[in-house]
Amino acid sequence: MNICEIEEDELLDIKFSEDPDKYFKYYHEIMNSNLSILRIYYSICESNNLKKKIKARINNNYYCDCAFHRADDLPFRIVDEKKFWGCYGCGYSGSIITLISKFYDISIEESLELLYSYLTNEIAELNEKQIDIFKEMFQYYNSPSIDKLFLESQRKTELLDERIKRYIKTNNFCLEEEKIADRLCCSKKHVKKIIHKSL
Ligand SMILES: [Zn+2]
Repeated sequence: MNICEIEEDELLDIKFSEDPDKYFKYYHEIMNSNLSILRIYYSICESNNLKKKIKARINNNYYCDCAFHRADDLPFRIVDEKKFWGCYGCGYSGSIITLISKFYDISIEESLELLYSYLTNEIAELNEKQIDIFKEMFQYYNSPSIDKLFLESQRKTELLDERIKRYIKTNNFCLEEEKIADRLCCSKKHVKKIIHKSL
């Protein structure tokens, strides 16, 4: 499964029952906002006493227990930067919007309204069920333990970047992305980015 492909596909698959202009506007504003899917996921897990193992990874990529199936191998991936998630175990994937719609069994429109309300600080338009979900989704959103995870991930990314730069230098500016990625156990894409920055 390629998380980048999901991003392209999802918008095409969404069929709004009414007022598509409004909901597409919501979609774009949410996707371009600083809302964090990882924070929301953390808050949902915390509110529902779900067992979760969110592991800090580099570049705001996180592996967690899936909210939709039981597994011990952490196949659930969250790409916080892109507000996307995908589970290699049960095969479900999507954006921050579909995560909420699927978890709470509400429509895509209701999910968009919920997130948009958070951005605009306006919950008056929400129905009773949405308000309950809203409270649950954001109850632990700013918890200090999730801040720690973000810091850890940031620190790991900086360390890796330093190692890549050092590797390039000590190997006579070897620019073989695949080899470096292999040696330092990271993605080729990330190595490419660092090489590009260092040149
Ligand atoms: Zn799953």
